[in-house]
Amino acid sequence: MVGATTDGADDAGRWFDRIRAVATPTELYALLFALPKGADLHIHLSGCGRPDDWYTLATTLRPGAHEVRVTDCPDGHARGTVVTVPAATVAALPACCRAGHRPLAELSDAERERWDGMLTVGEDEPDSFFDRVTPQLKHLRKEPELLLGVLAATLDRAAAEHVDHLEFQTGPFGYVGADGPVPPDEMAARYRAVLSGDRATASGVTARLLINVSRTAEDVEDRLRLSFEMADRHRDLWTGLHLSGREDQARRSLDELAGTYWELHRRYPELGVAVHAGEGFGAAYQVRPATLLPVSRIGHGLALVEDEETMTALAAAGVAVECSLISNVRLGRIDGYGAHPLRRFIEAGLRPCLSTDNPGAWGSQLTDEFYVATRHLDLSWKQVTALARNSVDASFAPPAVRERLRRRLDDGLSRFAAEVLNPGWRTALARHTPVMSPFARRHLL
Ligand SMILES: [Zn+2]
Repeated sequence: MVGATTDGADDAGRWFDRIRAVATPTELYALLFALPKGADLHIHLSGCGRPDDWYTLATTLRPGAHEVRVTDCPDGHARGTVVTVPAATVAALPACCRAGHRPLAELSDAERERWDGMLTVGEDEPDSFFDRVTPQLKHLRKEPELLLGVLAATLDRAAAEHVDHLEFQTGPFGYVGADGPVPPDEMAARYRAVLSGDRATASGVTARLLINVSRTAEDVEDRLRLSFEMADRHRDLWTGLHLSGREDQARRSLDELAGTYWELHRRYPELGVAVHAGEGFGAAYQVRPATLLPVSRIGHGLALVEDEETMTALAAAGVAVECSLISNVRLGRIDGYGAHPLRRFIEAGLRPCLSTDNPGAWGSQLTDEFYVATRHLDLSWKQVTALARNSVDASFAPPAVRERLRRRLDDGLSRFAAEVLNPGWRTALARHTPVMSPFARRHLL
């Protein structure tokens, strides 16, 4: 067996290059689907549901609870069609507005197709994530029954594509269930029930949560305090915080938040700090201010390529960069996968990893990120496996869990190299049937 020889890693690398050069898109996809990929560290739970997930969960778990506005109010009160609203809200509307609604379960085929489209970011519509998907999810994502259904489905998908660990950005605040508002501690109990339940255990995938704090909130400092305190109280679930929200709409700069972050970090030193920074180019997208915080992971970090000094400083500090090529292209941050600075990050000594960000909105999975990175950035076996290892090393999971994940990944990669990266690779791959994502079916294969 090739992987068992003393120079097995070199052999694996040579075979990986050779396979990449001759494989059809479908074969390369199958190879990367079967590859052990470690962890997905940047994944918004509300962005994980595909249209089918939301539709099925909403109509089966909360039948009759949602209506969809299919025609504008004739008197001009409510505009914008295919918008999903709680049935109770519709019942309180004047008759003119009420008439334009239809129960979610009774949409015609054409309306259903438009409804699905509202939850999907297509090609060349970079604003649609914030203008269309986010408003459409406004109510759905605040319902614990549905969100937890998305959580369980995402763990199942991760297990199928050989991803061992997920760190979801999702908080405990603001949920409204069938019986009314859900207090944060009760929401914690519901997350815990799903993550320790039979279905999650059977998936073999571990998960931890990060509380999202939006930099666009007026009371962002108060939210940081509440979130650190809440995460500390439920450390088995939340292992850190992620600062999110559009950088060009931030209410506070990172310099202004630094004092609060350090105060909270001193009080809760074991909670990880991650920040969306440099998710674009121009004055609003600087990564440098993030270095003023006790940060150990940067979300996106595209703008680092324009700031050599910060890139060097982050590399020296061992800060990880969560790269999401598909998100960056879909949201119009870069012109194509080949324009992503991932290779530059690797060469600069940063510790990049791959992540999906909002996979439900693009219909993707982590395999797709490995596919576009491998195909468009010409990565070697060493670089591809380093991406997977970086994801586990930068995880905010407790050290014992991280150690277990690291061993599992190393064993998985050795087995994969021995079984697949050799002259019999086509036969070996035939034993693994990949589950194609909607994104892969439409755009990659
Ligand atoms: Zn994100």
